[in-house]
Amino acid sequence: MISLEQLTKVYETGSHRTTVLDRVDFRVDTGEIAAVVGPSGAGKSTLAQCVTLLERPTSGSVVVNGDDLTRLGERDLRVARRRIGTVFQSDGLFGRRTAAQNVALPLEYLGVTKAETRRRVAELLDRVGLGHRADARPHELSGGQRQRVGIARALALRPTVLLSDEATSGLDPASTTSIVDLLRELRDDLGLSILFVTHEMDTVLQIADTVARLDHGRIVERGRVLDLLRDPASALGAALRPTRPAAGAPDGSRTWRLDYVSADVPTDWPTTLGSALGSPVSLLGASIETLGGATVGHATVAVPEAVASRLPGVAAALGLTARSLDPSPAPTPTPAPAPVQELVR
Ligand code: ADP
Repeated sequence: MISLEQLTKVYETGSHRTTVLDRVDFRVDTGEIAAVVGPSGAGKSTLAQCVTLLERPTSGSVVVNGDDLTRLGERDLRVARRRIGTVFQSDGLFGRRTAAQNVALPLEYLGVTKAETRRRVAELLDRVGLGHRADARPHELSGGQRQRVGIARALALRPTVLLSDEATSGLDPASTTSIVDLLRELRDDLGLSILFVTHEMDTVLQIADTVARLDHGRIVERGRVLDLLRDPASALGAALRPTRPAAGAPDGSRTWRLDYVSADVPTDWPTTLGSALGSPVSLLGASIETLGGATVGHATVAVPEAVASRLPGVAAALGLTARSLDPSPAPTPTPAPAPVQELVR
C-alpha cells in the first residue's frame, strides 16, 4: 500500500521557486494498479521519485506498507526501499552483463549466497517468461524482453510495491500489451500495489483500476477507470475513450451521441431502440469495448427527425445517455427512464 499525504515538492534555483507537486493526496491500495497521467512536465516522474525518496519531498508524508518513509533514518530507509521495485522507460540494464547477471545484481549487493542467487534468478526469469534467454546480453534482446529483465530485477528483493515510470512508453503495441499482461499477472499472483506513470491513455485502459490526472503538480481529476468511462461529464473519461470519425447522417435525420452509462446496456440495443421508436436507427460510428467484464463505450446514431425527440427517453431506459450532435439541436427534454418492455410493446 502506498499513501501520499499532502505531498509537496518545491525546487529552488537561486531565488526562483518551482512548486512541482502541490499538496498531493494519493493512494494505491494493496493489489491495485493506479495510473497517473498528465502532460509532460506535470510532475508525474517527481511523484514516482518521491515514493522512494530518491527525491525528498519538501513537505507531506510518504507511507509505504504502514511506514512513513520521510521519518526514517538512512539505514531504515535503505531497508524500506527494498520493498519498492522500480521499472523505468529506459531498462537500465548493464550491457556487458547477461540477463541473469543483471537480475542477480540486487541480490549480490545484499550478499545473498551464490547458490541462492542462482536459484532465485532462474525463478525470476521463468516468472517473466525469459528462462530460455538467461545468458543473452541486452543487445541480443528485444525492447519488450529487456523490459521483462528489468521487471525481474525489480522483483528480486520481493517488493510489495512496484513503481513503473513510463515502462511501456518506448515499446511497440504488441510488446506494450505483453508487458501490461505481465504486470497484471504479477499484481494478481503477488498482491503488488502498482503505481503506473504514463502518458499513454490506451495503456491506462489496458492496465489500470484507477487513474488520476496530474496537471501543474495537482491532481485535477481521479476515479475508477470504469466510473470515469461511464461519466459523460468527465474530461478524463473523454480522454480515455477513443472517439472515431462517424459517417454522415442520412437526409432528414437527427444525429445523437449515445454513451454507455449503465453496466446493463443490452448488446442488441440498436434493435431495441429502433423497435421502441418504430423507426430504423442508422449506426454511424461506435467505440465499444469490454474492460474487466464490463462493457463501456459510445456510439453515434441517426434517426428520422419525426421520432428524434423521443430518443433520449428510450436511450435512458437502455442505460445510454443521449446528446444531440446537430448544430441546432432538437429540444432534449430531461428523460424519465421508462421500462424498456413498455417502450417496445
Ligand atoms: P513529468 O514526469 O510529468 O513529465 P517531471 O516530474 O519530470 O514531469 O517534472 C515536473 C517539473 O519539475 C518540470 O517542470 C521539470 O522541469 C521540473 N523539475 C524536475 N526536476 C527538477 C530539478 N531537479 N530541478 C528543478 N526543476 C525540476
